[in-house]
Amino acid sequence: MCGICVSRRSLLALGAAAALAGCSQNAETGRRQLAFVSDEQLAGMADQAWAQVTAQFRPVRDPAYHQRLARIGRPLAQASGRDLAWEFVVLDSPEFNAFVLPNGKVGFFRGLFDFARSDDEIGSVLGHEVGHIVARHPAERVSQELAVQAGVTLAQVLLSNGEDGGQYAGEIAAALGMGAMYGVILPYSRKHELEADRVGVELMREAGQDPRAAVSFWERMIARSADQPKPPEALSTHPADARRLTELRAVVSA
Ligand SMILES: [Zn+2]
Repeated sequence: MCGICVSRRSLLALGAAAALAGCSQNAETGRRQLAFVSDEQLAGMADQAWAQVTAQFRPVRDPAYHQRLARIGRPLAQASGRDLAWEFVVLDSPEFNAFVLPNGKVGFFRGLFDFARSDDEIGSVLGHEVGHIVARHPAERVSQELAVQAGVTLAQVLLSNGEDGGQYAGEIAAALGMGAMYGVILPYSRKHELEADRVGVELMREAGQDPRAAVSFWERMIARSADQPKPPEALSTHPADARRLTELRAVVSA
């Protein structure tokens, strides 16, 4: 997809087309990304999604859970440089999962929370989640989802003329009202997961946490999933596989 953005940019250099709204360069990752939605639109979708998720999975009653999660998460949020209304909540479900929404709400399931053996292991998950925000993955994913819902291909959108999404602006605006909110809680791609791992390690370092905990945590996650049936992946997924661990080890020891 970003290859298309780059070639579009080449076209611009040739003076062949108008400015492409909705494709911007991310300073953190260096990739060009689709972004048809504004931060305000994203935050609105995220507020709705958060209300739905916390109605389905209630926060745990013991405030000590949330206090510990917030204590670990706050320095990571600060290191992110993203001025959001960050909130860290442990949700009362045995699932091994966590997710972040583009309004700064982080949901961390009790199953995963209790599995962690140290603050830094919890920090490694939170660093990864905050990393998705730093890398602006929600905007990119929602934009992809919008293009699909609008019934146009990304190539069509990117190659259309005009400003603000070109001739497909109407379709995209319509799709915004068609449950695009769901896009903020769809699983991330493998590329996004690896990118969030890498940014997460950087955030942990800045926050004074030990990123080696990310490696030990994933080693135990992989050992666990080896003898467990795969749980349903309702929210953002974190595939525990060998390749991911290999890349994580390389980033941590770099
Ligand atoms: Zn992730």
